[in-house]
Amino acid sequence: MPEFNIDKIRAAFPILSREIGNKPLVYLDSGATAQKPKAVIDRLTHFYEFENANIHRGVHYLSMNATTEYDEARETIAKAIGAPKVEEVIFTRGATESVNLVSNGLSETLVEGDEIVLTLMEHHANFVPWQILAEKKGLTLKFANVTDTGEIDMEHWKSLFSSKTKLATFTHVSNALGTINPVKEMTAFAKDKSDALVLIDGAQAVPHGKVNISDLGCDFYVFSGHKVFGPDGIGILWGRGELLNAFQPFQSGGDMIEHVSVSGTTFRQIPERFEAGTPNISGAIGLAAAFDYMENEVGWEAAEAHEQSILKYATERLSEIEGLHIRGTAPDKVGVISFTMDSAHPHDIGTILDTCGVAIRAGHHCAQPLMEHYKIAGTARASLAFYNNREDIDALITGLEKVQRFFG
Ligand code: PLP
Repeated sequence: MPEFNIDKIRAAFPILSREIGNKPLVYLDSGATAQKPKAVIDRLTHFYEFENANIHRGVHYLSMNATTEYDEARETIAKAIGAPKVEEVIFTRGATESVNLVSNGLSETLVEGDEIVLTLMEHHANFVPWQILAEKKGLTLKFANVTDTGEIDMEHWKSLFSSKTKLATFTHVSNALGTINPVKEMTAFAKDKSDALVLIDGAQAVPHGKVNISDLGCDFYVFSGHKVFGPDGIGILWGRGELLNAFQPFQSGGDMIEHVSVSGTTFRQIPERFEAGTPNISGAIGLAAAFDYMENEVGWEAAEAHEQSILKYATERLSEIEGLHIRGTAPDKVGVISFTMDSAHPHDIGTILDTCGVAIRAGHHCAQPLMEHYKIAGTARASLAFYNNREDIDALITGLEKVQRFFG
């Protein structure tokens, strides 16, 4: 493994050397989507230049080769996330589709009066599918409060469990606050107290450090490829095989069938059961390349340590700005800094920073219930990845000083 060298790391991300309006790009929006290293871009280009073919059932070289690459991508990802069985790793379009797949599957077994325990810090992707299911099936949703520091109120969360709790679902890391939730302990509690199924939304956790799914004890874990330095349109649902194989297919068509006749159709087991139609072949291969890059070229531990040092620096610098309030101050955080300013609306902050070449996100971050809870319309959010450096933070501070001059 090469030593972690931030200049070399940055050079591996071509987009980081571009300018926006004659200013060097300062990319602080990795929570929305992460930038891609050349290793991933080259892998995609190579696939389309030399390897492109549809998978499965092909009798020619390219098809068989693409099938092998696709299958190997699943193996690489399974190993990278500690999935106990390769076939339990399902390729989806992203975290959103993964949650929808599970809610669709559970709609067969959940009955009126059953309860689902959620938290107020969920992204809409892990909120709305359950709300729709609850309305359809007469389920009760219970939401855990969030504290002023942006942590789940554990006493409140624990009090929501009952003998009717059939599912507990929570985010591993809050996209709006950066809080890392104690998901292993939460999973153990949900199992112990209610024998509930547990789905963890890992969309914001996987990009910030190595996740070992086997160690968590959960039943389902979801994330998106584009947030973990891979392509978009590809994501993962990991789930326990016996649960997934009991679900009705989410979509039907080619590849997921065992046998079709006019009198009826039988379906395959996982993973094909949930991969109807031509999948995102290059996306799967590109996502495996992203994990390979992180494992072999960067190192998750070094990436995490670097990101934490930039987070610390950023938190210190931002705390010096008068009238700026950081939302989400949990001791256990990834590189997400959400903030409001007395002088300016989040959208104005984002627009002025853009004139400085600084890309951040402003708004409710698809976490409207959380914003409602805090009685704010939204926040400005700078979100980091391991490729950010101190100069990025200095540029952010300079931009925020401009915001203050403009509105202060
Ligand atoms: N969960 C969390 C915590 C997220 O931050 C996001 C996206 O921002 C999602 C789920 C949905 O991811 P996607 O839009 O890639 O499906």
